[in-house]
Amino acid sequence: MTGCAVLRLTGADAYKVTAMHTSTNTLAKCQALDLQDPLRSLRELFQLPEGVIYLDGNSLGVLPKATPTRVAAAVTKEWGQDLIKSWNSAGWFQMPLLVGDKIARLIGAEEGEVVAADSTSINLFKVLSAALSIAQADDSEKKTILSERTNFPTDLYIAEALCKERGLTLKLVETEDLQSALQHDVAVLMLTHVNYRTGAMFNMKTMTASAHNVGALMVWDLAHSAGAVPVDLKGSLVDFAVGCGYKYLNGGPGAPAFVWVNPKHTNRYWQPLNGWWGHAAPFEFTPEYKPATGITRYQCGTQPILSLTALDTALDTFLEAEKLGGMQALRKKSLALSDLFMHLVQTQLAEHGFGIATPIDEDFRGSQVSLTRSKGAYAIVQAMIARGVMGDFRTGDGKNQPDILRFGLTPLYTRFVDVWHAIRHLKEVMDSGEWQQPQFSQKNVVT
Ligand SMILES: *Cc1c(COP(=O)(O)O)cnc(C)c1O
Repeated sequence: MTGCAVLRLTGADAYKVTAMHTSTNTLAKCQALDLQDPLRSLRELFQLPEGVIYLDGNSLGVLPKATPTRVAAAVTKEWGQDLIKSWNSAGWFQMPLLVGDKIARLIGAEEGEVVAADSTSINLFKVLSAALSIAQADDSEKKTILSERTNFPTDLYIAEALCKERGLTLKLVETEDLQSALQHDVAVLMLTHVNYRTGAMFNMKTMTASAHNVGALMVWDLAHSAGAVPVDLKGSLVDFAVGCGYKYLNGGPGAPAFVWVNPKHTNRYWQPLNGWWGHAAPFEFTPEYKPATGITRYQCGTQPILSLTALDTALDTFLEAEKLGGMQALRKKSLALSDLFMHLVQTQLAEHGFGIATPIDEDFRGSQVSLTRSKGAYAIVQAMIARGVMGDFRTGDGKNQPDILRFGLTPLYTRFVDVWHAIRHLKEVMDSGEWQQPQFSQKNVVT
């Protein structure tokens, strides 16, 4: 065997790796890959703690170096000195749309089509409501939201609540049964582009076309896609999308999420959270609601300006990345990182009982690698964290879904040597049995 079974070329010569037989020459090759990485300068834009290998940027992105100064200025000058004037002078009022414009560049949308606001859960409520109203106005027999059972729970909870309120049905099926469940009763197909547990990615264009074939509207959740993989909402003829600001976009804990609506639908229906920030003329203070035109109507109330400031600053790192090839270049590196990760798992950890839940086919994987193991997944992740290698654990259902050890490979700042060292630590944790120490089985509130 060549030692390179998994490590295929991803189209980027910079990441070309020849056979890796021994672990030491693998480390040397990882160092070489980092040296020739055309994106290596981007890591300098982030504040990464000493001694930490951070593989959880899919859950909470890291701190950009520019953020503390920018947020401090927003606090001390814009708020502290200029006070209420800042709604105008610092552009606070327009921030959700301006930040939305920066996000639009990453997801195949255009200026003025995206707003950064509220949380993913809340934005999903807005778009699902609008999508249901549009679908039912066209065909009142459409009474189903279809999704997959393994979708992120908050998405399912929001859909469940809406279905209860409107007397509709939420139909959940296994991924492989989606096509057959797409029947004419389906009003909305709601899917997450990259699965949070496995890292499996849908083909956005073909799934959207399948939904349209039965007259359903398509809602995508981009929580694990925006900033992680190239997304082409308009090219894929998508109807609605939402996504998250604190994962790959590095906006900080609780950062505003975003919402995009295909312009052909935006003015057709207003979302039901009719707050004054979505009003056509909020400062006329009229008692009746009149929705603004365009994506502005997807705002509700006053937005968290300090958090928006942090998100806005973080998005500038993607503007830097644009100069180096943008999302396409980031994707090449991301695939090379996950290829390397899976290759090392297969070659270095063969006797330790790990499975790889993430699709090997690069067309169907996002920017993370998920491992499975019949027991000990939580404790192994904890033992890794104690060594400074931060991934996370996602519980299984005790039946079909196994427990998951999740490793996010954020191409903005993850190096090839980080992957090598992470696997070295994992091997040491397994070889020594360190993970079986009792403290690693103590469950935290947040896993
Ligand atoms: C992270 C994530 C969310 C988070 O929703 P919040 O409202 O920000 O808590 C929602 N959906 C998916 C698919 C996610 O991965």
